[in-house]
Amino acid sequence: MKIGVVGCAGRMGRMVVAEVAATAGCDLAGGTEQPDSPFLGQDVGAVAGVEPAGLAVGPDADALFAASDAVIDFTHASVVSDHAGHAARHGTPLVTGTTGLSGEGQGALETAALKAAIVQAANMSVGVSVLLGITERLAAILGDEYDIEILDMHHRYKVDAPSGTALALGDAAARGRGVDLDAVAQRVRDGETGARRAGDIGFATLRGGDVVSEHSVIFAADGERVKLTHKVSSRSIYARSAVRAALWTKDKSPGLYTMADVLDLG
Ligand code: NAD
Repeated sequence: MKIGVVGCAGRMGRMVVAEVAATAGCDLAGGTEQPDSPFLGQDVGAVAGVEPAGLAVGPDADALFAASDAVIDFTHASVVSDHAGHAARHGTPLVTGTTGLSGEGQGALETAALKAAIVQAANMSVGVSVLLGITERLAAILGDEYDIEILDMHHRYKVDAPSGTALALGDAAARGRGVDLDAVAQRVRDGETGARRAGDIGFATLRGGDVVSEHSVIFAADGERVKLTHKVSSRSIYARSAVRAALWTKDKSPGLYTMADVLDLG
């Protein structure tokens, strides 16, 4: 399969390019960057620190979708709608891990999923895919007397908060309780907050250093706590999963898929 990488000079983009180069069964179709990127014109492989690919970083995402069997996107929330449009126009599968999407961005992916296979995961890791299922189940088993709090810590460069994974974990917990996350989410606490409202799902955000990703889901009752924690020490796991997802899209019907579908977790 020919795999394109939008945002190929980003932290994740470079890792994805390196992973495509190292994976049997796929070739690099090309890579794009923003129109003002200093990497435009440079070799996609060299930018990623691997063997030159003989392909220059370009600004034209539409052309890349036309030339690819699947495209991987770790870019910015503001451009995901455009990428979804290219995927729909060409029927090219899109694997996106970009987080912080607006309602419009999410809507664009859902519309594109009528025409192309779209895999969307706020966290591509296998461990987090399993954690989402366990969180939903524990929330259902433990019930309302356990307060649910979700903590995320990431490196100092992360631009959105709470993390997409923290929100996905909150959503899983809300589903387990049969409630809508928007109705119970406490995303920020500051000053005179008053006592905790029963049934809320709270979020806390830490940012600093080079922490790749840490998430905890805490179920706190009188006298005991259950804490589930997932830590990532290398971003390469996301790149590996994204390439696995891109290969999985071969011959898949249009639709919006998750990593649980890719990993066949049911
Ligand atoms: P980054 O800022 O290092 O990289 C983003 C890249 O996208 C940059 O190189 C930027 O120039 C490029 N870009 C922006 N607009 C573009 C456009 N219009 N066309 C082409 N390229 C464009 O960020 P990052 O750390 O690589 O993370 C990117 C996204 O992926 C974030 O939303 C982050 O939260 C998410 N992420 C998700 C997972 C996951 O498992 N789902 C893992 C890590 C990061």
